Amino acid sequence: MSVNPARSGVAIDAGGYTVHVGAGLGDDLAPLIAEAAPAHHYAVISDGNISSRYGDPLAASLSRFGRTSSHVIPPGESFKTRETWSRLTDELLDAGGTRDTTVVALGGGVVGDLAGFVAATYMRGVPVVQVPTTLLAMIDASVGGKTGVDTEAGKNLVGAFHAPAAVVADVDVLSTLPLAHRRAGLAEAIKHGVIADADYLTSIESQLDALLRAEPAATLPLVARSVELKADVARADPLEHGRRRILNFGHTLGHAIEHVSGFSLLHGECVAIGMVLEARLAERLGIAARGIAERIEHTLAAAGLPTSRPEHMDVNAIIASTRRDKKARAGAVEYALPTRIGEMAEQGGRWSVPVEEDVVREVLA
Ligand code: ADP
Ligand code: ZN
Repeated sequence: MSVNPARSGVAIDAGGYTVHVGAGLGDDLAPLIAEAAPAHHYAVISDGNISSRYGDPLAASLSRFGRTSSHVIPPGESFKTRETWSRLTDELLDAGGTRDTTVVALGGGVVGDLAGFVAATYMRGVPVVQVPTTLLAMIDASVGGKTGVDTEAGKNLVGAFHAPAAVVADVDVLSTLPLAHRRAGLAEAIKHGVIADADYLTSIESQLDALLRAEPAATLPLVARSVELKADVARADPLEHGRRRILNFGHTLGHAIEHVSGFSLLHGECVAIGMVLEARLAERLGIAARGIAERIEHTLAAAGLPTSRPEHMDVNAIIASTRRDKKARAGAVEYALPTRIGEMAEQGGRWSVPVEEDVVREVLA
Protein backbone atom coordinates (compact mmCIF):
# COMPACT_ATOMS: atom_id res chain seq x y z
CA MET A 1 0.00 0.00 0.00
CA SER A 2 1.52 3.34 -0.98
CA VAL A 3 0.42 6.81 0.04
CA ASN A 4 -0.23 9.27 -2.73
CA PRO A 5 -0.38 12.68 -1.03
CA ALA A 6 -1.29 14.53 -4.21
CA ARG A 7 -4.59 12.72 -4.31
CA SER A 8 -5.11 12.28 -0.57
CA GLY A 9 -5.48 8.57 -0.84
CA VAL A 10 -3.78 5.23 -1.14
CA ALA A 11 -3.04 2.92 -4.04
CA ILE A 12 -3.17 -0.80 -3.38
CA ASP A 13 -1.69 -3.38 -5.74
CA ALA A 14 -4.34 -6.05 -6.15
CA GLY A 15 -2.14 -8.19 -8.43
CA GLY A 16 -2.34 -6.91 -11.98
CA TYR A 17 -4.42 -3.85 -11.21
CA THR A 18 -4.48 -0.98 -8.75
CA VAL A 19 -7.19 -0.10 -6.28
CA HIS A 20 -7.21 3.63 -5.57
CA VAL A 21 -8.96 4.62 -2.37
CA GLY A 22 -9.37 8.32 -1.78
CA ALA A 23 -11.54 11.02 -0.32
CA GLY A 24 -12.76 14.04 -2.27
CA LEU A 25 -11.31 12.71 -5.52
CA GLY A 26 -13.64 14.92 -7.59
CA ASP A 27 -11.82 15.87 -10.78
CA ASP A 28 -9.08 13.32 -10.11
CA LEU A 29 -11.49 10.47 -10.78
CA ALA A 30 -11.55 10.79 -14.58
CA PRO A 31 -7.75 10.96 -15.06
CA LEU A 32 -7.31 7.86 -12.87
CA ILE A 33 -9.81 5.99 -15.04
CA ALA A 34 -8.31 7.22 -18.30
CA GLU A 35 -4.80 6.38 -17.12
CA ALA A 36 -5.75 2.81 -16.17
CA ALA A 37 -7.79 2.04 -19.30
CA PRO A 38 -7.21 4.61 -22.06
CA ALA A 39 -9.90 4.38 -24.75
CA HIS A 40 -11.63 6.38 -27.44
CA HIS A 41 -14.99 5.69 -25.86
CA TYR A 42 -16.01 5.52 -22.19
CA ALA A 43 -19.36 3.88 -21.45
CA VAL A 44 -20.50 4.88 -17.97
CA ILE A 45 -22.99 2.41 -16.50
CA SER A 46 -24.84 3.37 -13.31
CA ASP A 47 -28.26 3.05 -11.72
CA GLY A 48 -31.12 5.53 -11.27
CA ASN A 49 -30.06 6.51 -7.73
CA ILE A 50 -26.54 7.35 -8.80
CA SER A 51 -26.65 8.61 -12.36
CA SER A 52 -27.64 12.24 -11.86
CA ARG A 53 -25.65 12.79 -8.67
CA TYR A 54 -22.41 11.09 -9.65
CA GLY A 55 -22.75 9.71 -13.20
CA ASP A 56 -23.33 12.93 -15.08
CA PRO A 57 -20.40 14.83 -13.52
CA LEU A 58 -18.13 11.82 -14.11
CA ALA A 59 -19.18 11.50 -17.76
CA ALA A 60 -18.59 15.25 -18.21
CA SER A 61 -15.06 15.07 -16.86
CA LEU A 62 -14.30 11.87 -18.80
CA SER A 63 -15.24 13.66 -22.02
CA ARG A 64 -11.82 15.37 -21.86
CA PHE A 65 -10.30 11.95 -22.55
CA GLY A 66 -12.66 10.49 -25.14
CA ARG A 67 -16.20 10.14 -26.35
CA THR A 68 -18.61 9.19 -23.56
CA SER A 69 -22.01 7.53 -23.36
CA SER A 70 -24.16 7.03 -20.26
CA HIS A 71 -26.27 3.97 -19.52
CA VAL A 72 -28.68 3.79 -16.61
CA ILE A 73 -30.36 0.72 -15.14
CA PRO A 74 -33.11 0.63 -12.52
CA PRO A 75 -31.71 0.19 -8.98
CA GLY A 76 -31.95 -3.17 -7.24
CA GLU A 77 -30.79 -6.76 -7.40
CA SER A 78 -33.93 -7.78 -9.30
CA PHE A 79 -32.50 -6.09 -12.39
CA LYS A 80 -29.21 -8.01 -12.27
CA THR A 81 -30.41 -10.25 -15.07
CA ARG A 82 -29.53 -11.48 -18.54
CA GLU A 83 -32.26 -9.18 -19.87
CA THR A 84 -30.51 -6.11 -18.46
CA TRP A 85 -27.15 -7.45 -19.70
CA SER A 86 -28.66 -7.83 -23.16
CA ARG A 87 -30.21 -4.35 -23.11
CA LEU A 88 -26.94 -2.75 -22.00
CA THR A 89 -24.99 -4.64 -24.64
CA ASP A 90 -27.40 -3.38 -27.32
CA GLU A 91 -27.06 0.15 -25.96
CA LEU A 92 -23.28 -0.05 -26.24
CA LEU A 93 -23.55 -1.30 -29.82
CA ASP A 94 -25.97 1.55 -30.62
CA ALA A 95 -23.59 4.02 -29.01
CA GLY A 96 -20.90 2.88 -31.45
CA GLY A 97 -18.84 1.01 -28.89
CA THR A 98 -15.92 -0.95 -30.31
CA ARG A 99 -13.01 -2.99 -28.96
CA ASP A 100 -11.68 0.44 -28.02
CA THR A 101 -14.38 1.04 -25.43
CA THR A 102 -13.78 1.13 -21.68
CA VAL A 103 -16.73 0.32 -19.47
CA VAL A 104 -16.97 2.37 -16.28
CA ALA A 105 -19.05 0.59 -13.63
CA LEU A 106 -20.30 3.33 -11.31
CA GLY A 107 -22.46 1.97 -8.50
CA GLY A 108 -22.96 -0.71 -5.90
CA GLY A 109 -22.44 -4.42 -6.26
CA VAL A 110 -25.34 -4.79 -8.66
CA VAL A 111 -23.94 -2.31 -11.17
CA GLY A 112 -20.43 -3.67 -10.66
CA ASP A 113 -21.40 -7.28 -11.37
CA LEU A 114 -23.60 -6.41 -14.29
CA ALA A 115 -21.37 -3.83 -15.96
CA GLY A 116 -18.40 -6.12 -15.34
CA PHE A 117 -20.19 -8.94 -17.13
CA VAL A 118 -21.13 -6.63 -20.01
CA ALA A 119 -17.44 -5.71 -20.30
CA ALA A 120 -16.34 -9.35 -20.03
CA THR A 121 -18.45 -10.34 -23.02
CA TYR A 122 -18.60 -7.20 -25.15
CA MET A 123 -16.54 -7.81 -28.31
CA ARG A 124 -15.09 -10.83 -26.46
CA GLY A 125 -13.99 -8.59 -23.62
CA VAL A 126 -13.17 -4.90 -23.13
CA PRO A 127 -11.64 -3.26 -20.05
CA VAL A 128 -13.79 -2.30 -17.08
CA VAL A 129 -12.91 0.22 -14.41
CA GLN A 130 -14.88 -0.34 -11.24
CA VAL A 131 -15.99 2.83 -9.43
CA PRO A 132 -17.84 1.42 -6.41
CA THR A 133 -20.30 3.69 -4.58
CA THR A 134 -21.42 1.45 -1.71
CA LEU A 135 -19.24 0.39 1.21
CA LEU A 136 -19.98 -3.23 0.35
CA ALA A 137 -18.85 -2.82 -3.25
CA MET A 138 -15.72 -0.87 -2.19
CA ILE A 139 -14.46 -3.51 0.18
CA ASP A 140 -15.82 -6.63 -1.45
CA ALA A 141 -17.51 -6.84 -4.83
CA SER A 142 -15.21 -4.55 -6.81
CA VAL A 143 -12.06 -6.51 -5.90
CA GLY A 144 -11.37 -10.01 -7.19
CA GLY A 145 -12.80 -9.86 -10.70
CA LYS A 146 -16.08 -11.71 -10.23
CA THR A 147 -18.84 -10.57 -12.58
CA GLY A 148 -22.22 -11.97 -13.47
CA VAL A 149 -25.98 -11.97 -13.31
CA ASP A 150 -28.72 -13.81 -11.43
CA THR A 151 -31.19 -16.29 -12.91
CA GLU A 152 -34.45 -17.77 -11.65
CA ALA A 153 -32.42 -20.69 -10.32
CA GLY A 154 -30.22 -18.54 -8.11
CA LYS A 155 -27.82 -15.63 -7.68
CA ASN A 156 -24.63 -15.22 -9.74
CA LEU A 157 -25.14 -18.45 -11.64
CA VAL A 158 -24.04 -16.99 -14.97
CA GLY A 159 -20.88 -14.94 -15.14
CA ALA A 160 -17.16 -14.69 -15.71
CA PHE A 161 -13.95 -13.78 -13.94
CA HIS A 162 -12.98 -10.45 -15.50
CA ALA A 163 -10.44 -8.48 -13.49
CA PRO A 164 -10.90 -4.71 -13.63
CA ALA A 165 -8.26 -2.46 -15.22
CA ALA A 166 -8.48 -0.50 -11.98
CA VAL A 167 -10.78 0.18 -9.06
CA VAL A 168 -11.29 3.78 -7.97
CA ALA A 169 -13.19 4.32 -4.72
CA ASP A 170 -14.01 7.77 -3.36
CA VAL A 171 -15.29 7.37 0.19
CA ASP A 172 -17.03 10.77 0.02
CA VAL A 173 -19.91 9.23 -1.94
CA LEU A 174 -20.82 7.13 1.10
CA SER A 175 -22.32 10.25 2.71
CA THR A 176 -25.43 9.73 0.56
CA LEU A 177 -25.58 5.96 1.01
CA PRO A 178 -28.55 4.98 3.21
CA LEU A 179 -27.52 4.02 6.77
CA ALA A 180 -28.80 0.46 6.45
CA HIS A 181 -26.41 -0.06 3.52
CA ARG A 182 -23.50 1.42 5.49
CA ARG A 183 -24.20 -1.04 8.29
CA ALA A 184 -24.44 -3.90 5.81
CA GLY A 185 -21.06 -2.97 4.33
CA LEU A 186 -19.52 -2.89 7.79
CA ALA A 187 -20.59 -6.50 8.30
CA GLU A 188 -18.10 -7.55 5.60
CA ALA A 189 -15.35 -5.39 7.12
CA ILE A 190 -15.99 -7.05 10.49
CA LYS A 191 -15.76 -10.38 8.68
CA HIS A 192 -12.33 -9.39 7.34
CA GLY A 193 -11.16 -8.72 10.90
CA VAL A 194 -12.46 -12.05 12.14
CA ILE A 195 -10.95 -14.13 9.36
CA ALA A 196 -7.54 -12.51 9.07
CA ASP A 197 -6.69 -9.56 11.31
CA ALA A 198 -7.55 -9.30 15.01
CA ASP A 199 -6.09 -5.77 15.32
CA TYR A 200 -8.27 -4.63 12.46
CA LEU A 201 -11.38 -5.89 14.25
CA THR A 202 -10.36 -4.00 17.37
CA SER A 203 -9.87 -0.80 15.40
CA ILE A 204 -13.31 -1.16 13.80
CA GLU A 205 -14.86 -1.66 17.22
CA SER A 206 -13.24 1.49 18.54
CA GLN A 207 -14.45 3.67 15.67
CA LEU A 208 -17.93 2.37 15.00
CA ASP A 209 -19.74 5.67 15.40
CA ALA A 210 -17.49 7.53 12.99
CA LEU A 211 -17.74 4.64 10.55
CA LEU A 212 -21.54 4.60 10.70
CA ARG A 213 -21.49 8.32 9.93
CA ALA A 214 -19.19 7.49 6.99
CA GLU A 215 -16.62 10.04 8.16
CA PRO A 216 -13.84 9.96 5.55
CA ALA A 217 -11.03 10.05 8.14
CA ALA A 218 -12.24 6.75 9.60
CA THR A 219 -13.67 5.23 6.44
CA LEU A 220 -10.70 5.66 4.11
CA PRO A 221 -8.32 3.51 6.20
CA LEU A 222 -11.09 0.94 6.67
CA VAL A 223 -11.70 0.57 2.95
CA ALA A 224 -7.95 0.47 2.32
CA ARG A 225 -7.33 -2.28 4.90
CA SER A 226 -10.27 -4.39 3.74
CA VAL A 227 -9.25 -4.07 0.10
CA GLU A 228 -5.67 -5.02 0.93
CA LEU A 229 -6.84 -8.03 2.87
CA LYS A 230 -9.31 -9.21 0.25
CA ALA A 231 -6.80 -8.62 -2.55
CA ASP A 232 -4.14 -10.67 -0.74
CA VAL A 233 -6.50 -13.59 -0.35
CA ALA A 234 -7.98 -13.35 -3.86
CA ARG A 235 -4.58 -12.93 -5.54
CA ALA A 236 -3.18 -16.05 -3.91
CA ASP A 237 -6.19 -18.10 -4.99
CA PRO A 238 -7.98 -16.42 -7.90
CA LEU A 239 -10.33 -19.30 -8.69
CA GLU A 240 -11.30 -20.11 -5.12
CA HIS A 241 -9.81 -23.57 -4.82
CA GLY A 242 -8.16 -23.04 -1.44
CA ARG A 243 -7.67 -20.26 1.06
CA ARG A 244 -10.00 -17.83 -0.69
CA ARG A 245 -12.77 -19.87 0.84
CA ILE A 246 -12.14 -18.16 4.18
CA LEU A 247 -14.00 -15.20 2.67
CA ASN A 248 -17.10 -17.39 2.86
CA PHE A 249 -17.22 -17.15 6.63
CA GLY A 250 -20.81 -16.32 7.59
CA HIS A 251 -21.94 -16.90 4.03
CA THR A 252 -23.14 -20.50 4.01
CA LEU A 253 -25.89 -19.78 6.51
CA GLY A 254 -25.98 -16.12 5.43
CA HIS A 255 -26.82 -16.99 1.83
CA ALA A 256 -29.41 -19.52 3.00
CA ILE A 257 -31.12 -16.93 5.21
CA GLU A 258 -30.95 -14.37 2.40
CA HIS A 259 -32.58 -16.86 0.06
CA VAL A 260 -35.31 -17.91 2.51
CA SER A 261 -36.06 -14.24 3.28
CA GLY A 262 -36.86 -13.83 -0.41
CA PHE A 263 -34.03 -11.24 -0.50
CA SER A 264 -36.02 -8.91 1.76
CA LEU A 265 -32.97 -8.68 4.04
CA LEU A 266 -29.75 -7.02 2.85
CA HIS A 267 -26.81 -9.29 2.05
CA GLY A 268 -24.71 -7.77 4.85
CA GLU A 269 -27.51 -8.28 7.36
CA CYS A 270 -27.70 -11.97 6.46
CA VAL A 271 -23.94 -12.31 6.65
CA ALA A 272 -24.04 -10.75 10.12
CA ILE A 273 -26.52 -13.40 11.29
CA GLY A 274 -24.55 -16.08 9.46
CA MET A 275 -21.27 -15.11 11.16
CA VAL A 276 -22.76 -15.38 14.65
CA LEU A 277 -24.34 -18.76 13.87
CA GLU A 278 -21.25 -20.16 12.16
CA ALA A 279 -19.03 -18.95 15.01
CA ARG A 280 -21.35 -20.89 17.34
CA LEU A 281 -20.93 -23.92 15.08
CA ALA A 282 -17.17 -23.57 15.39
CA GLU A 283 -17.44 -23.39 19.17
CA ARG A 284 -19.73 -26.40 19.33
CA LEU A 285 -17.38 -28.47 17.17
CA GLY A 286 -14.43 -27.50 19.38
CA ILE A 287 -12.78 -25.70 16.46
CA ALA A 288 -12.99 -22.26 18.05
CA ALA A 289 -12.45 -21.25 21.65
CA ARG A 290 -15.57 -20.30 23.61
CA GLY A 291 -16.41 -16.63 23.54
CA ILE A 292 -15.67 -15.85 19.91
CA ALA A 293 -19.34 -15.96 18.90
CA GLU A 294 -20.26 -13.60 21.71
CA ARG A 295 -17.55 -11.13 20.72
CA ILE A 296 -18.69 -11.14 17.08
CA GLU A 297 -22.32 -10.81 18.12
CA HIS A 298 -21.53 -7.86 20.37
CA THR A 299 -19.65 -6.00 17.64
CA LEU A 300 -22.33 -6.60 15.03
CA ALA A 301 -25.09 -5.51 17.40
CA ALA A 302 -23.18 -2.33 18.18
CA ALA A 303 -23.11 -1.66 14.43
CA GLY A 304 -26.89 -1.99 14.39
CA LEU A 305 -26.88 -5.31 12.56
CA PRO A 306 -29.14 -8.29 13.26
CA THR A 307 -27.45 -11.24 14.98
CA SER A 308 -30.04 -14.01 15.16
CA ARG A 309 -32.30 -15.96 12.87
CA PRO A 310 -35.52 -14.03 12.19
CA GLU A 311 -38.01 -15.66 14.58
CA HIS A 312 -40.58 -16.59 11.97
CA MET A 313 -37.99 -18.14 9.65
CA ASP A 314 -38.25 -21.91 9.30
CA VAL A 315 -35.14 -23.85 10.35
CA ASN A 316 -35.83 -26.63 7.84
CA ALA A 317 -36.07 -24.13 5.01
CA ILE A 318 -32.69 -22.66 5.98
CA ILE A 319 -31.08 -26.12 6.17
CA ALA A 320 -32.57 -27.10 2.82
CA SER A 321 -31.22 -23.90 1.33
CA THR A 322 -27.66 -24.54 2.53
CA ARG A 323 -27.68 -27.70 0.40
CA ARG A 324 -28.31 -25.76 -2.75
CA ASP A 325 -25.39 -23.38 -2.16
CA LYS A 326 -23.06 -23.84 -5.10
CA LYS A 327 -20.16 -24.22 -2.66
CA ALA A 328 -21.68 -27.39 -1.25
CA ARG A 329 -19.75 -30.51 -2.24
CA ALA A 330 -21.20 -34.00 -2.26
CA GLY A 331 -22.31 -35.00 1.23
CA ALA A 332 -22.19 -32.64 4.20
CA VAL A 333 -22.33 -28.92 3.57
CA GLU A 334 -18.97 -27.20 4.15
CA TYR A 335 -18.32 -24.18 6.34
CA ALA A 336 -15.37 -21.81 6.60
CA LEU A 337 -14.89 -21.58 10.36
CA PRO A 338 -12.70 -19.48 12.66
CA THR A 339 -10.34 -20.98 15.21
CA ARG A 340 -9.89 -17.63 16.95
CA ILE A 341 -10.28 -13.97 15.98
CA GLY A 342 -7.94 -13.42 13.02
CA GLU A 343 -7.44 -17.08 12.12
CA MET A 344 -9.45 -19.63 10.16
CA ALA A 345 -9.49 -23.41 10.36
CA GLU A 346 -7.39 -25.31 7.85
CA GLN A 347 -7.10 -29.08 7.40
CA GLY A 348 -4.70 -30.52 4.83
CA GLY A 349 -4.96 -27.52 2.52
CA ARG A 350 -8.73 -27.30 2.83
CA TRP A 351 -10.18 -24.14 4.28
CA SER A 352 -13.67 -25.41 4.89
CA VAL A 353 -15.06 -28.06 7.18
CA PRO A 354 -17.92 -30.47 6.44
CA VAL A 355 -20.54 -30.14 9.19
CA GLU A 356 -23.32 -32.62 9.95
CA GLU A 357 -26.81 -31.25 9.64
CA ASP A 358 -27.75 -32.11 13.25
CA VAL A 359 -25.15 -29.70 14.58
CA VAL A 360 -26.34 -26.94 12.26
CA ARG A 361 -29.90 -27.60 13.38
CA GLU A 362 -28.90 -27.26 17.06
CA VAL A 363 -27.27 -23.91 16.41
CA LEU A 364 -30.24 -22.64 14.43
CA ALA A 365 -32.79 -23.75 17.02
P1 ADP B 1 -24.56 -3.46 -2.93
O1 ADP B 1 -24.81 -4.81 -3.54
O2 ADP B 1 -23.18 -2.98 -3.11
O3 ADP B 1 -25.10 -3.29 -1.55
P2 ADP B 1 -26.53 -2.13 -4.68
O4 ADP B 1 -25.96 -1.97 -6.03
O5 ADP B 1 -27.68 -3.06 -4.48
O6 ADP B 1 -25.35 -2.42 -3.73
O7 ADP B 1 -26.91 -0.71 -4.09
C1 ADP B 1 -27.65 -0.54 -2.93
C2 ADP B 1 -28.59 0.63 -3.07
O8 ADP B 1 -27.91 1.86 -2.78
C3 ADP B 1 -29.17 0.81 -4.47
O9 ADP B 1 -30.49 1.26 -4.35
C4 ADP B 1 -28.29 1.90 -5.07
O10 ADP B 1 -28.95 2.61 -6.06
C5 ADP B 1 -28.01 2.77 -3.87
N1 ADP B 1 -26.73 3.49 -3.89
C6 ADP B 1 -25.53 2.99 -4.25
N2 ADP B 1 -24.55 3.87 -4.01
C7 ADP B 1 -25.14 4.97 -3.49
C8 ADP B 1 -24.63 6.21 -3.02
N3 ADP B 1 -23.33 6.50 -2.99
N4 ADP B 1 -25.55 7.11 -2.57
C9 ADP B 1 -26.86 6.81 -2.55
N5 ADP B 1 -27.38 5.65 -2.94
C10 ADP B 1 -26.53 4.73 -3.42
ZN1 ZN C 1 -20.69 -11.16 1.17
